[in-house]
Amino acid sequence: MSESSYDAIVVGAGPAGVSAALIMARQGLKVALLERGEYPGAKNVQGAVLYSRMLHEIIPNFWKEGGAPLERPVVEQKTCIATENSWVTFGYKSRKFLEGVPNAYTIIRARFDQWYAAQAEAAGVELFCGVTVRELIRKEGRIIGVKTADGDTLEASVVVACDGVNSFLAQKAGFIDEWKPTEVALGAKEVLALDSSVIEERFGLEPGEGSTLEIFGSVTLGMLGYAFLYTNKESVSLGVGCRLSDYQAKGIRPSDHLELVKKHPAISRLIAGAKTLEYSSHLIPEGGLKSMPPLFADGFLVAGDAAQMSNAAFREGSNLAMTAGKLAGETVAQAKVQGDFSAKTLSLYAEKLKSSYILPDMEETKDLEHSISSNPGFLEFYPQLACDLAHLRFSVDGRPKREHLKDAFRLLRRRGFIQIAKDLWPLRKAAL
Ligand SMILES: Cc1cc2nc3c(=O)[nH]c(=O)nc-3n(C[C@H](O)[C@H](O)[C@H](O)COP(=O)(O)OP(=O)(O)OC[C@H]3O[C@@H](n4cnc5c(N)ncnc54)[C@H](O)[C@@H]3O)c2cc1C
Repeated sequence: MSESSYDAIVVGAGPAGVSAALIMARQGLKVALLERGEYPGAKNVQGAVLYSRMLHEIIPNFWKEGGAPLERPVVEQKTCIATENSWVTFGYKSRKFLEGVPNAYTIIRARFDQWYAAQAEAAGVELFCGVTVRELIRKEGRIIGVKTADGDTLEASVVVACDGVNSFLAQKAGFIDEWKPTEVALGAKEVLALDSSVIEERFGLEPGEGSTLEIFGSVTLGMLGYAFLYTNKESVSLGVGCRLSDYQAKGIRPSDHLELVKKHPAISRLIAGAKTLEYSSHLIPEGGLKSMPPLFADGFLVAGDAAQMSNAAFREGSNLAMTAGKLAGETVAQAKVQGDFSAKTLSLYAEKLKSSYILPDMEETKDLEHSISSNPGFLEFYPQLACDLAHLRFSVDGRPKREHLKDAFRLLRRRGFIQIAKDLWPLRKAAL
């Protein structure tokens, strides 16, 4: 590792760190990017749906040029509400998702992260892999560098912490303690090999096109979370994520939970015959705005999962990480022009986050998780109700339709119309 000091040290070569490093290098800053994995992406887990717009803002037209390792452009997104042996599915399919900047692609993070970090290196970033940061170095109260597990020290005007959900750096800065089990979810995921033609036939896709499926209800065994199934080129990614405190209370391991998910009839036929290629698990920040740590200090910024930036209700995380990394990079570049890396100058980062979609979206959904988790109806009553109502609607049983309607009212009355209105009101924030 180079001994010379840097304008910025970025810790973590995930979407947040690479975005921050790349933006700063383009502005002519000398940047070191430190990654504990053997290579970028070696330890990273995502579903993975990549939202194109945020990456396009950093690497224009990345899907056309530059050989980004993308799996399938997503043309269909489906949601499934399931009981043990029935399910209601609704979704949306449109090739409009492919027009202009395509909405989203499935990716495999180990491949994608290596490509993305290579773009940063091409812009001048010095990437060091296999380097774990263990300490922050301070001088007269401000952060001036890092110390690695090997005892190397590295100094810079700014340290940008992009070290993911269990941010050691945010802890060392005194910004956070360890997350409470209610503030994080634990996701378990397998990549399962399937021929592309089998994927296209089972998921009803044209060659090369992709889809996403999220499954709520009985698959989470009464815990707060959901299962997902995304199509890659020649594999599917199947996963499940639930709140860590729920896993602890239930005493079930996520890997065992995933085995149960595989057996659900809404999923089993889609993955039949598929061979497991890899298993991984990872925490997901879910505390939202209420758990967000301070975002800056003298010579220090925090971005991405390290700052609890995720929007679980919309399956968004990597896009927030990319945008936050970009805004952190722009802030440091502006601080360099001013020759001032104090908290006052770096507070511009928080202003930029407020003007972006990140803080407004997190503000909007800050009470959503509590509303859902504190209301057991969402985990049991509503999945059953959805299936019972669908069953009535599609049954031809020789009874007049007005009898069906009466049955439907009877089902709804079990919870009461006022209670249903109260239950559903908070969900308006997850609707659009
Ligand atoms: C199961 C699952 C499914 C998900 N699905 C989606 C999805 O479909 N779409 C979506 O947008 N988001 C999804 N997410 C969320 C998304 O993965 C994260 O929001 C995103 O990866 C955050 O990026 P980041 O750069 O902040 O952190 P990370 O991607 O976690 O990167 C942090 C990096 O820092 C490195 N690091 C950590 N500590 C140190 C240290 N001390 N020294 C040096 N390096 C260090 C790590 O090795 C890692 O490379 C999912 C997450 C999970 C777990």
